[in-house]
Amino acid sequence: MRFIRYREGGAARYGALEGEAVRPLPGAPWEGGAPSGAARPLEGLELLPPVPAAKIVCIGRNYVAHARELGHDVPTEPLIFLKPSTSLLAPGGTVLIPPESSRVDYEGELALVIGRRARRVARHSWRDVVLGITAGLDVTARDLQKKDGQWSRAKGFDTFCPLGPSVDTELDPADLLVETRVNGEVRQSARTTLMIFDVGTLVAHISAAMTLEPGDVILTGTPEGVGPLAPGDAVELAIEGLLPLRVSVAREG
Ligand code: ZN
Repeated sequence: MRFIRYREGGAARYGALEGEAVRPLPGAPWEGGAPSGAARPLEGLELLPPVPAAKIVCIGRNYVAHARELGHDVPTEPLIFLKPSTSLLAPGGTVLIPPESSRVDYEGELALVIGRRARRVARHSWRDVVLGITAGLDVTARDLQKKDGQWSRAKGFDTFCPLGPSVDTELDPADLLVETRVNGEVRQSARTTLMIFDVGTLVAHISAAMTLEPGDVILTGTPEGVGPLAPGDAVELAIEGLLPLRVSVAREG
């Protein structure tokens, strides 16, 4: 199944995507329940990030070539950090470059959506808790990341986590092409096989520390080719088998 989340009549709703049509789900996808009611066209719906993501857990330096391009060693265990839920941006939205930063980068990433509450998940049991996958951008104020020493502010500005548009519950994340294009030009292109720590290892490592809950999101790290964004840019994150995530860029205020 593929699902999206959209706003209708002032409320957030989930819908199953069937081609270009959307059929409403009775509740959140992890609660079960079949789509019902009249189908409506995807086009014209006000899309929301596909899950509300009470927490967004991110992985730093999970591709060797990306760690090297920023001058870092390859980590010996997953390096995790958090983005606030307020950083979420709907598909088609606008990333806002804040006045505090003069260097805001895109980082295209495969995102995992959690479908079950769990702690200390065994590496081989990750499929029990990962409901599906989607596309996410870990937008980063690179200058503030260096200046602050830790990453909460640099990674946490409003609009710094575009997510979606749809979640696919059947695709295997192990070997997918992740491609980021800025104004139509390919800037990042790598397969998820190049991850240092695979999905099972990430889920085990994160859930050893914190309980994962339905609707939480894990951003699995970015491949090499990160670079700056400028007002007016159009960014597209295309992950093989998923609908592309598209956002624009503007200066805040
Ligand atoms: Zn990242």
